[in-house]
Formats: sequence, structure tokens, C-alpha cells
Amino acid sequence: MIVIGAGPVGLCLALALAQQDVRVVLIEALGADNFLEQVPRAGTNHPATLELYDRIGLYRRIEPRGIIAPLFRHWDRRGQELIAEFDHRHLKDDTRFPYVLQCERIKIVEEALKLAGAHPDIDLRLSTMFTAFEQDAGGVRASVKNPAGETEHLRGAYLVGCEGARSIVRKELGIAFEGFTYPDRTLNIEVAHDFRQHGYTERNYISDPDEWSNLFHWKGPPDRWRVHFPTRPDETEEALTRPEAMQARLQRFLPTGKDFDIVGCNLYVAHQRVAKKFRDGRAILAGDSAHVNSPIGAMGMNSGVHDAFNLAEKLVGILRGEADDSVLDRYERQRRHVAVQHTQAQTIRNKRLLAERDPAIRQKNHDELRRTAADPRLARAFLLRSSLIESLREAEQIL
Ligand SMILES: Cc1cc2nc3c(=O)[nH]c(=O)nc-3n(C[C@H](O)[C@H](O)[C@H](O)COP(=O)(O)OP(=O)(O)OC[C@H]3O[C@@H](n4cnc5c(N)ncnc54)[C@H](O)[C@@H]3O)c2cc1C
Repeated sequence: MIVIGAGPVGLCLALALAQQDVRVVLIEALGADNFLEQVPRAGTNHPATLELYDRIGLYRRIEPRGIIAPLFRHWDRRGQELIAEFDHRHLKDDTRFPYVLQCERIKIVEEALKLAGAHPDIDLRLSTMFTAFEQDAGGVRASVKNPAGETEHLRGAYLVGCEGARSIVRKELGIAFEGFTYPDRTLNIEVAHDFRQHGYTERNYISDPDEWSNLFHWKGPPDRWRVHFPTRPDETEEALTRPEAMQARLQRFLPTGKDFDIVGCNLYVAHQRVAKKFRDGRAILAGDSAHVNSPIGAMGMNSGVHDAFNLAEKLVGILRGEADDSVLDRYERQRRHVAVQHTQAQTIRNKRLLAERDPAIRQKNHDELRRTAADPRLARAFLLRSSLIESLREAEQIL
């Protein structure tokens, strides 16, 4: 099996396959020297994802590096009013992990890479760039540029593209990446300041018609909080990330009268796109190569990891001769359904909810959130959706 990309999805797939005695070649462009120099990105790990990490021995490695967060809160920025608090403990009968783990992608891939590097069935090729592939009835042939700069050809039964949103596998197959890109970029400012003293909890969604934001807590040292703000398309990166501009923005968000300790910042573009197909013959897409969405709701990495485990089970069945490769069409039906009906639908809705400008609709949304949080039955249903447990249950029903 050839897996392209040692991001969270490629690593989980390689580990889940190797655990079932499948030999995997895992190709990663980054090397041991720069693997950890990646922007932090994802970090909220939902309960169902924690169960999957646990299966491959990853959970116990990342738990000490993260923050267990059972709660999240919705706020209205005008008047700093708390609208609703949701508690994952409503899911205590649905999962062994009734909380999210705030643990950044970079820590997850660092720990998973150690597991992959130590596994006898994973041939981990770092500093190796995948460039092209071809397939025939008997298998696939991947072309890679090795650390010495030479082109090598690798043969495998299947090839899985887990190399992120710019997937070469997807492009080589000519598969459309349908959807849209938001015109505005999001500014992420990382601050060493304990926002809990102002009433915030580890995860906060703050709605405002002019400047919505998200506020999340990450384990240090030093402990950091990420504050996300929308920006206007005409603003330059230079103007947005000037220290005085970021301080002024933070003071408008939370007037403390003292400069914040800014420890990092970056700007990112959010896309809402799903590949038209997740599979063509022996080439398969998983994770960001198959679907991308705005980070509001923390679903990209989580749903990608869910792809990986779903796919691993099917590939193992095929290689053991227990299933024919039509199960890969089921993978596509299940995971594409989740991408369109759950992750896309919810992340688009989440952004609208935070940025809603119509006062009457804002009021209605806030009333709905209050009512949902106050009723344990409705709160559980809401959390089953927001934590993607419902998406997994629904996918199981798809034949
Ligand atoms: C600011 C931000 C916050 C986010 N927060 C969350 C969150 O809280 N929760 C969540 O679930 N998701 C979140 N996401 C989304 C999440 O980061 C992605 O969905 C996730 O990283 C996708 O994982 P992946 O393994 O599919 O791809 P990637 O993480 O993109 O990994 C792809 C890997 O492939 C390698 N690669 C690429 N091209 C090649 C090549 N040609 N040859 C060899 N190797 C190659 C790359 O170096 C990389 O290691 C966030 C995203 C952003 C931008």
C-alpha cells in the first residue's frame, strides 16, 4: 500500500493498516529537520476521533500534551453576553471520551510519526516528494523524488492521496474540487493571557455582525490562546499583522488597558470544497485531498481521520480476500455523504451564525441556542452533531 502524506490522515491510515499487518510505504515531502516547522492549524479533537486515536495507541501519547475540555460556550460580543454553554458530559453514554482534547495538529503528527517510524510494517520515507502515478489492473506505480534528488518508482496494490488540499493524486485524476473559497482571510493571533479570568472557557464561539471571533486555549509552555478574527479582502497581510494593529484589535475585543503578550500570528484562507469522486480505480482520496472546510466547528482534521479508519478497514478486507474492491465505492458513498451533509453544511452554518447581521435573525439564533443548551435531550442531540458522532452513525447506515 502506498500512502502519500504524513499529515494526521496519512499517519492514522498507515498506522491502522500496519496494525492489521498490511505493509505500507508512507511518503512525506518534509524531512526530520523541518517536519515540526508547520503552522499549528487544527487542534480540537472530538470524542469519536479520540476513540480512533486510542485504537492505534496515539491517544495516550497526546492526552498529556493537550487540554481536556468538556465545555464550549457561545457568546454575543455586544455586551459580552454568554448565550449558551454546551457540556460534552451529555454524551457520557455515547462515548468513552465525553470531552474534546485541545491538542494541536503539530503535536499529533509528531507523536504519530514516532509510532510510524517504529512500526516494522511502515516504510517511512521522509524528504521524499511524490510527483506522479499511473495505474493498471494489477496495481499502481508512484513516482517520487528521493532525498538524493533521484526519481524512484514504487509499486503497490493501491495508492491513497493524503497529501492535503493541493493533492496531486486528485489533480492527476482530473477530479473536480467543487465548492467555493471565502473572499476574506481569517487572522489568527496567539496570545499568552489567561482568558478564563474574564469568564471564557477553553473553547468559545463569539458572534458579532462586524467582527465575530473564536477563542481557544492551547497547552504550552507557555499556555496560549488563539483568537480568530475575520478580515476585509482589501487589507494587506503587512497591515493586519503589524503589532500595534493586532494590539488595537485585541483591545477592542477585550479592553484590559495593557498590551497583550502576542506569541504568534498567521492569516489563512478558508475553502468549502468536496471532490466530485473519492476514488478512481486503485487511487483513493482521504482527508483534505478529498474535502476542505472552514475551521469553525473543528471538523476538517476530525473528519479526515474518520475517512482514514473507514478506508483502512475496507482495504484490509480487500487484501485479505474477504471483500472485493466495490467496498471502496461504499467508502466514497459514506465519506462523501459526511463531507457534504455534515462537515460542509455545519461549517457553513457555523460561520453564518457567528457573522449574522440581521438583528431579528441573530435574536432567533441566540434564543434557539439558549433553548437547546437548557434542555438535556436537545443538548445531547446538538452535541452528537457538533462532535460528528451522528455523521459516523449515519455513514454506517449507507450501504
Ligand atoms: C487555522 C486552521 C485551524 C484548523 N482547526 C481545525 C480543528 O480544530 N479541527 C479540525 O478537525 N480541523 C481543523 N483544521 C483543518 C485541518 O488542519 C486539516 O483538515 C487537516 O490538517 C488535514 O489533514 P490531512 O492529513 O488530510 O492533510 P495535511 O494536514 O495537509 O497533511 C498533508 C501532508 O502531506 C504532505 N505532502 C503534501 N504534498 C506532498 C507531496 N507531493 N509529496 C509528499 N508529501 C506531500 C504535507 O507535507 C503534509 O505533511 C484547521 C485548519 C486551519 C487552517
